[in-house]
This record gives sequence, structure tokens and C-alpha cells, in this order.
Amino acid sequence: MNLFTETNLSPDILKAVGELGYESPTEIQKQTIPFILSDIRDLIALAQTGTGKTAAFSLPILDMIDDTSRKIQFLVLCPTRELCLQIAKDIKNYSKYMQNIKTTAVYGGSSIMEQIRSLKDKPQIIVGTPGRVIDLINRKALDFSAIHWLVLDEADEMLSMGFKDELETILSETPETKQTFLFSATMNKEVERISKNYLTKPHRISVGSINEVKKNIKHEYYVAGYRQKKEALKRLIDSNPNQYSIIFCRTRMETQEVADFLMQNGYAADALHGDLSQAQRDTVMKKFRLKNIDILVATDVAARGLDVNSLTHVIHFSLPDDPEVFVHRSGRTGRAGKDGISMALIKPEESRKLKQIKSATKIEIIEGKIPTGEAVIKAQVGGVFENLFAEHEDYFEFDDALIPDLSAFTKEELVHRLLQVQLKELAVYYKDRHDLLEQKLSSRDDDGSRRDRRDRDRDRGRDRDRGDRGERGERTGKPRRRNENMVRFFFNLGKKDQLKKLDVLEIINKATSGKGKKRAEIGDIEILEKFSFFEVEKTFKDNVLSNIPSMKFKGKDMRAEVAN
Ligand code: AMP
Repeated sequence: MNLFTETNLSPDILKAVGELGYESPTEIQKQTIPFILSDIRDLIALAQTGTGKTAAFSLPILDMIDDTSRKIQFLVLCPTRELCLQIAKDIKNYSKYMQNIKTTAVYGGSSIMEQIRSLKDKPQIIVGTPGRVIDLINRKALDFSAIHWLVLDEADEMLSMGFKDELETILSETPETKQTFLFSATMNKEVERISKNYLTKPHRISVGSINEVKKNIKHEYYVAGYRQKKEALKRLIDSNPNQYSIIFCRTRMETQEVADFLMQNGYAADALHGDLSQAQRDTVMKKFRLKNIDILVATDVAARGLDVNSLTHVIHFSLPDDPEVFVHRSGRTGRAGKDGISMALIKPEESRKLKQIKSATKIEIIEGKIPTGEAVIKAQVGGVFENLFAEHEDYFEFDDALIPDLSAFTKEELVHRLLQVQLKELAVYYKDRHDLLEQKLSSRDDDGSRRDRRDRDRDRGRDRDRGDRGERGERTGKPRRRNENMVRFFFNLGKKDQLKKLDVLEIINKATSGKGKKRAEIGDIEILEKFSFFEVEKTFKDNVLSNIPSMKFKGKDMRAEVAN
């Protein structure tokens, strides 16, 4: 099956898919479409975002859905609001020509009353986050009696966010006769357990492993000291003209600093991180999707909900700790059959980290040289011609009579002059600027290096000043400081358990949430090697103490006590 037209999908679906520019099914689509169309077994599919999995499960289901019934037949559960909106949008696109099919997205952080109203439209398809779906079940706003298909999308992510109980409730509240499809990037114990308990003799498919590295991405690294990093970044951007890229940073602070630096230097860039309100993040994502900005500086978590296919470059301004994150970040480019470039800025003392990433991912990362001013201008000239020869529309009427007599110039002279005008600003910038001193990776171990620690402390201190809010932005508003309304808890898990701040936020949210209850204020979160501390509003003290011991994180028991 090399073309969509070779699938047995209905003409309405093929037409919509064709309009989206899809020609051939992706690997996962090749495997799932015929399976779902013809088999009644449950399914476990190992696949990451970006593989085309939304179409993989929704196209065959759309093909089989009963558009004469106004009952919910198809439910998709996914971890975040952004993903939920994305999936709903994709399904709406795929069902564009199926006039009786309605899809509704339901997710937290948005008015439940409005969502209840939109359910009155009687959609056949619901895409939701587990918490909100449970709230709606409790309010009797969802009737799941006719569900045929249930998709758990990013099941590993939902479980690590603490949605285990919600998933189990939903799985048991839906008809036993349904077909369940579990999609996950990784297969861990929790995912196995859920599939064992709730899926019947599932068929398994896998599209590459988590560490599968796309072959069409070229990986480069550039060594630059802490003080040179921003200038080095500017040179990398300038020597790769016409780029549409995401620059990944480690902290919100760093993200904002890098974005500010780029904006001050005249780039169409902006920042995306958890210190922004949801509305601000939506605006930035929209600007980036519309290409009003072509460089997005983002934290890993904030960039998760962004679905953009045509990135030319991914730049790692700072290396992530986890090699898997490196693969995920880089995999944002090189999509939809295009080539991609991943460029990492590496401090001399980070040689061990680079080695770890190379050996864990088996990616070949080639050293590049930070471009000289001369190299930048050369690349820019290339970019001008690339633009000139690219297909483009005529944006305005042009009267040849406006062209003055040019017979006094040769062709070369004219091109030189035009290029001088076009590249003047850059040329002036680089004219008297020294090229960066070439740096070598040091053989010294990185982890204990003072510089590294100082950078980290600096960022951590500032992040704390701003109040530790979730990257996901469920908590927005003014930065918080430690105050008397907070109780400080000792928490038995730490970095060794792969606990991240976002996990702690989710755990606290879960332990303190309840019907009709306002959200608990969360203060400082400090994750240490073996344990952690967090602060929660006093009125929620008992909820934390009583609920946390009954929850698990990655299969581990949790314990919270009031800290001395
Ligand atoms: P997903 O893994 O579902 O997040 O899909 C990743 C991206 O690939 C989405 O933006 C889809 O629109 C796009 N996509 C999915 N299937 C195809 C296909 N067969 N051909 C081209 N693009 C696709």
C-alpha cells in the first residue's frame, strides 16, 4: 500500500486527506489502517508523535463510524489540552466532507459549562483529557453506552502524569464490547499493566523504537563557551538563511533571555515557556504556525503541544540531560519527507554529556565550526539566490516601465549592488567584528565543573524568584513568593526517581483536586537527589497528607510529610 488511494477508505475521507497534501500513508498508517478496518482485536501501537498516528487511528474509524446515530461512538483520551485540541482539529479536517459527523474536544482549564453546552450538539467523537472526561461523567454530561472505539493516545505520558485512576475509571465505564487502541511512545511497567488489565489479547505493532533516529536529519555540534553562546547562536542563524526553527533551552529564564536577545537583534523570534499565560502561549504558537515569526525559542515542555511539520532546523541552545529528549527535540525537524538539521551548542566542559548522548542514541554528531563573518555573508548570498529561484507568487503588479535604463552596468555589477543593499545590515555587523576564538571540548568532566554549577544555580535562583509555576501554564497570574499561607512538605521521591517539577505539580493538583474545589496554590518546589520539598496552600494540607500515600509515581509509593 503505497498510496492512500490503495486503502479502502471512503472517497469523502480520501478527498479530505488529499487536500491536506497527504499522498502516501506513513509507516504506522500502513500498519494500522488495514488492521482497524478488518480486525476486531484491541491494539497496542508503539509510536511517537510525528509518525502520523492521529490519522492512523482516526481515518479507519471515520470510515466505519455510523453517521446516522447521534451517540458517542469514538473516544480519544490524551494527556494535554494542546494535544487534545490538535487531535480534534485533525479529526475535523479528516471528516470535513462527512457532514453529519461532529467532534468535540473537552479538556481542563477551560469552562466546563461551555463544554457541556457543546456536547448538546450530540457529537459522535469526543477527544478529551482524562480529568475533564471524569468531571463530565460525574456531571452526567457524557453517555458512553454506544462507544465502539477507545483510543488511549500517549498512554505512557498520561500515566506518568498521574492519570492512572481516571484511565481505569473510564476504561471500566465504557462498554466491554468496545475496541481499545493504546498508543504509546514507550512501553513501561505501568503501560503494560494497564494493557494487561483492560485490553483483550491485543495485536501489537511498533514503528521503530523510542530511540529510532531519523536518518534524514543531519546532526552537528558547535563548541562555544558560556559567554560566547548567544553570539555563536546568532552566527549559526545568520549562516543558515531562510530557516524556520525551534531553539530549545533548558529553563524558562534561559528561554526568555535567548528570545529577548534575538528580538533585540532584529530577528522575527519569540519565546514559549511556562511563565507565559495560556493566552500568551496560544498567541506565540499561532504566530509561529503562520510564520509571522520564524524562530521559536522554547522549553521542552512548552514545545510539546506545538505541531509544526516544516521545521528546517532544531537548535539545542543547551543540551538536555536526557538523551531521549535530544532525540525528541531533533525529531521535530526532518518531518513529512523533508531533510532536517539539528545543531547543538556545547560548552567546552560538556564533553561527557555529549559522549553520553552519542552513545545512548547512536547518533553521529559532527563537529562544526562557528561561522566567521565571511562565511555568514557567503551563506546569506546563497540564501538570497535560493529565495530568488524558489517558486513564488507575484504579490504586486509591476510595470516594466519602472525599471530605469541599466545599460551602464554589467549584470555582475547590478547583482553586486542589489546584494550590498539587501545584506547591508549584516555586513556592517560582521565587518569589524572579531571571529569567535575556536574552542575545544575539554577532557575535564563536566558534571562537577564550577561554571556549569554556577550557571545552574543562577538559573535556579531566578526561576525560584519568579515562583515555580507549571510549564503547562495551568497556573498563571502573578509570581508567588514563599508566604505564611503555605505549608512546606517533605516528599520521598527525587531526581533519582526521574521526578520533574512538572510531575510534582501534577501530583499536587491531583491530590488536591475535587469536585467544585478551587485549585490549591503551589509555592516553591525543590527537587533534590533523593527527595524533594514542595509548598502547598495551608487549607489543602490534609488533602496532601491523606491522598498522596494512595498515589503512585512510576510505580513507586509516595509519601509526603510536613517538613520541619
Ligand atoms: P501525528 O503523529 O499524528 O502528530 O502527525 C504528525 C504530522 O504528520 C501531522 O501534522 C499530520 O498532519 C502529518 N501527517 C500525518 N499523516 C501524513 C501523511 N500520510 N502524509 C503527510 N503528512 C502526514
